[in-house]
Amino acid sequence: MPARNILVINCGSSSIKFALVNEDQPQFVLSGLAERLGSPEAELHWQRGADKDSLMIPGADHRLALAQLLPLVQSAAGGQLHGIGHRVVHGGEHFTTACRLDELTLTAIRATAPLAPLHNPANLQGIEAAMRLFPELTHVAVFDTAFHQSMPEYAFRYALPEVLYREHGVRRYGFHGTSHRYVSQRAAELSDLDYGHSSWLVAHLGNGCSTCAVVDGHSRDTSMGLTPLEGLVMGTRSGDVDPNLHSHLARTLGWSLERIDALLNKESGLLGLSGLSNDMRSLEQAREQGHAGATLAIEVFCYRLAKSLAAMACALNQLDGLIFTGGIGENSALIRSQTVAHLKLLGLALDPQANAKTVRGAAGPIQAAGHPRVLVVPTNEERQIALDTLELLDH
Ligand code: ADP
Repeated sequence: MPARNILVINCGSSSIKFALVNEDQPQFVLSGLAERLGSPEAELHWQRGADKDSLMIPGADHRLALAQLLPLVQSAAGGQLHGIGHRVVHGGEHFTTACRLDELTLTAIRATAPLAPLHNPANLQGIEAAMRLFPELTHVAVFDTAFHQSMPEYAFRYALPEVLYREHGVRRYGFHGTSHRYVSQRAAELSDLDYGHSSWLVAHLGNGCSTCAVVDGHSRDTSMGLTPLEGLVMGTRSGDVDPNLHSHLARTLGWSLERIDALLNKESGLLGLSGLSNDMRSLEQAREQGHAGATLAIEVFCYRLAKSLAAMACALNQLDGLIFTGGIGENSALIRSQTVAHLKLLGLALDPQANAKTVRGAAGPIQAAGHPRVLVVPTNEERQIALDTLELLDH
């Protein structure tokens, strides 16, 4: 049987990220981004091998952008497209694994929209457009939350009256599940361990950041909660704050819920602390030049990350390794070393040379000799979504 091709689609409210994944090829056959959809500046960018190209698609919505993509995908796949995998942010408690998309599963995804009002409706827009354009193909939804459905109740419940959980779904769900699963599986492979009998701490550090405890191939706890705001310091998100901050700001400054929402999600995190940027590369450069805000933002980021990892260690009986991934985790030797410096009690220590050279897509161990394993593992959510889609095609 020739190697199969899966198109992976990730729809935001005004963008579509896509990748054509061939099951036998490590690199994407085609990948790209349609952005500013719905505006006169809508544009499609794509890359095939070393070739890059783009096309203005003024006024295009999700459906028109996908229609423009169609010939590109068909040509790159040599007319052999076998299925489409869709990233969906929230699967609520209904979805514990990936699922085939049909009327029943679409209805269940629509029902979770109140839990992710910014993301799920945009994901659905893309799914519906793609299903109309490719009606003959199998469409699969892969959820950011599904991997964390294995958390025990004592890890996913908030200390709130039960009625909020039972009737309104207020609980911890966790996100980035596709990435935590992919990198923990890869870590076991790289370490010659059986994934089904191994224990990992994972730090996914991109614009959004979360930690996860993975035991025997299952998530046992994670730092994000009801929404992706809980937990670590992120690019523009505050992570954990005292929940009374809301009423404090409302009472003392007269701020509305919308204002507080924007503050915590868009103006806080690395950006708020540094007063400079949400981008770790810029902060590292500014720190080199002695910028006090950037220096503090990095210190808070690493300390809070270490605290979260130490807390996640409660879910493990043994530690087979700590994994760094995401744009920051894969590239920043500084963040890795500052974080691990706070984790001496777990016995962790890095080899400075291995740490410095394991960047830009390299994978491998970076711990000092004789200390517990620390791995850098580049994430690949698109490949994991394609693998899940292939698995459903096979069954
Ligand atoms: P997203 O969550 O949007 O997928 P990424 O995983 O690409 O984001 O991560 C983006 C973050 O990674 C940014 O803060 C960026 O500055 C950081 N990053 C990328 N390369 C480096 C680098 N060489 N050193 C430090 N940080 C980096």
